[in-house]
Amino acid sequence: MSVRVRFAPSPTGFVHIGSLRTALYNYLFAKKMGGKYILRVEDTDQSRLVEGAIEGMLEAMEWAGIKHDEGVFLDENKNVYQGGEYGPYIQSQRLDIYKRYMEDLLEKGHAYHCFCSKERLDKVREIQKSEGKIPRYDGFCKGLSKEEVQEKIQSGESYVIRLKLPTNTEIKFNDIVRGLVSMNTDDLDDQVLMKSDGFPTYHFAVVVDDHLMGITHVIRGEEWLPSTPKHVYLYEAFGWEAPTFVHLPNILNAERKKLSKRHGDVAVEDFKKKGYLPEGLVNYVSLVGWSPESNEEIFTLKELEEAFSLERVSKSGGVFDTDKLNWVNQHY
Ligand code: GLU
Repeated sequence: MSVRVRFAPSPTGFVHIGSLRTALYNYLFAKKMGGKYILRVEDTDQSRLVEGAIEGMLEAMEWAGIKHDEGVFLDENKNVYQGGEYGPYIQSQRLDIYKRYMEDLLEKGHAYHCFCSKERLDKVREIQKSEGKIPRYDGFCKGLSKEEVQEKIQSGESYVIRLKLPTNTEIKFNDIVRGLVSMNTDDLDDQVLMKSDGFPTYHFAVVVDDHLMGITHVIRGEEWLPSTPKHVYLYEAFGWEAPTFVHLPNILNAERKKLSKRHGDVAVEDFKKKGYLPEGLVNYVSLVGWSPESNEEIFTLKELEEAFSLERVSKSGGVFDTDKLNWVNQHY
């Protein structure tokens, strides 16, 4: 089986150093395995789009020297274009595909229409919170008959489509960094998969696309770990084989908190402006959350391609240390 991995950014603003590392690890793993590295744009949340973010992200990747084989590219005039046989690679251009797979999922009985108003959902949430419970959808529309659903749609009621999870069922998957992860469906919400505007949510689009694009390993930040059981359930519901999951530890600041803009530079652009060399930044970032077998610390991108392995990605968060970055950067 040949390896296919992807970096799937949402064009919502600047490129965080953590995204650079996710892209880098995907790239390195693909190179090491003789596989393909794909760049897909995840823009299903239209309310969060930032103009120019796709171009900015592609420029940052180009600056860093992290080249992809398929997906969304920038030409010499800075125009976005797409290349590869699994396209389109921009999710907002794949709506008819999601619609088709959603019909299939509804047909199989693994999803249902939900007509609940925002007011009703807010009220339910309030009550659950006041009872000390974690707010979850209460399944109000789960039992609607096909006829009732049709009637409501025909009368123009707005709706979303939710994942229909079975009760008290253990969902298990193996993560290369975390080992065996298991979660009970009673601890999960009936996730919205299709919004009232006809756009899928991230959770639905990511599963459909990773499957259709032949992704073998999903390498992404650990903030997505709690969502993965829902994704695994979707793979099972469709009868598809799930990819191998690899959730990368957070990048932390000196106080061991998640590195964020409030605590200084986090955007690739900030480091570029300050005069860091792409080779230095990439070399340093590779070491935040991964350790090579040797105790060497200075690596060109080519050398990293040789040395990298997912097995040596650490479980605990990697601390971003500016002194160390400066020291590495001086070698270039
Ligand atoms: N679009 C998601 C993000 O920007 C990607 C998550 C994933 O890789 O599955 O974080």
